[in-house]
Amino acid sequence: MRDLGRTRRRMRAKVRELDLPRLRTVEELTAAVAERVGRPVRLVPRRMRVGEPSGFVERRADADIIHFEQETSGLHQAHIICHELAHLLCGHLAEAPADDEDDEGAGQVELSTIDPDMLRLVLGRSHYDAVAEEEAEILGAELTRTLVLAPGAGTTSQLAPALEHRKGQNV
Ligand SMILES: [Zn+2]
Repeated sequence: MRDLGRTRRRMRAKVRELDLPRLRTVEELTAAVAERVGRPVRLVPRRMRVGEPSGFVERRADADIIHFEQETSGLHQAHIICHELAHLLCGHLAEAPADDEDDEGAGQVELSTIDPDMLRLVLGRSHYDAVAEEEAEILGAELTRTLVLAPGAGTTSQLAPALEHRKGQNV
């Protein structure tokens, strides 16, 4: 059995290292993470199909695109995005592919044109590794907790179970 407590301490240290200001929205958090990792990060809501994950990162030459399920609550969306941001912060994704497009506009996000082969590639890189998933789960949860969510985006009653969960854990 892996040492979850150790991973948790490591991830909390990572959040402290980030030294994030008080952020209210997941968009602000995304911008802060993009600055830390030194690559643009874009958020793209999607209607995920059956069999697709609720979120994943598409690594492009010039940016990382976080695709996330739009048909769910704002709080759940924040969890999904924080999980993917955690993958970026942990360096779980492979190096960006070489930019072989001459077109300057190649970085534009095209909605609903995900190549299934690309999706498998992304998933193969970021979602099949149990250790990476564990780190992303924990760091993602820590990132979610750093958000001072605006009323309506995630009310205290919605956040309570997460806090309760934390109380029950060994620290
Ligand atoms: Zn993941």
